[in-house]
Amino acid sequence: MQSIGGLHMQYYVVCPRKLWLYSKQIGFETEHDRVIEGTLLHEKSYPRKDKELVIGDAVVDVIDDEYIQETKLSSKMQKADEWQLLYYLYLLKQRGIEKKGKIAYTKEKKVVEVVLTEDNEKELKKKIAGIYRVIESDSAPKFKKLPYCKNCAYFDFCFALEGKDDAT
Ligand code: SF4
Repeated sequence: MQSIGGLHMQYYVVCPRKLWLYSKQIGFETEHDRVIEGTLLHEKSYPRKDKELVIGDAVVDVIDDEYIQETKLSSKMQKADEWQLLYYLYLLKQRGIEKKGKIAYTKEKKVVEVVLTEDNEKELKKKIAGIYRVIESDSAPKFKKLPYCKNCAYFDFCFALEGKDDAT
């Protein structure tokens, strides 16, 4: 069974079709570049953090005993960012580490607090099951135009197939 990382959660919330394409490593290089960009942003914005924590595919900063923090460029995808961080908090909880989270948005210079509650843990488990349903499927979820599409790494792929009979 494929292991799920924070990007799986983020893509599932943004667009299940993006998640499927990512899981099949279609256009992986572009995604990989994006991951590298994210890493550079992390390093530029908050260089030389004394304490960092590796959680699956992510490195998050440990702010203090209470909080871990993720750094993002802008809050355009705030909902997806929050679920991604909730997923990291959930993974930590499974290892016996209970923390709260913060997302620092560098463009807007704002910080959002994220707390793993009983309710969002239940929702998180549903999302994890949903992620497995998507990535274990042989075909991609149907194309559906989203406001996010124009900024998506799979834009050319999806829009080239739009309207064609063989579009997945
Ligand atoms: S271009 Fe749009 S439909 Fe295609 S994967 Fe990206 S967000 Fe999803």
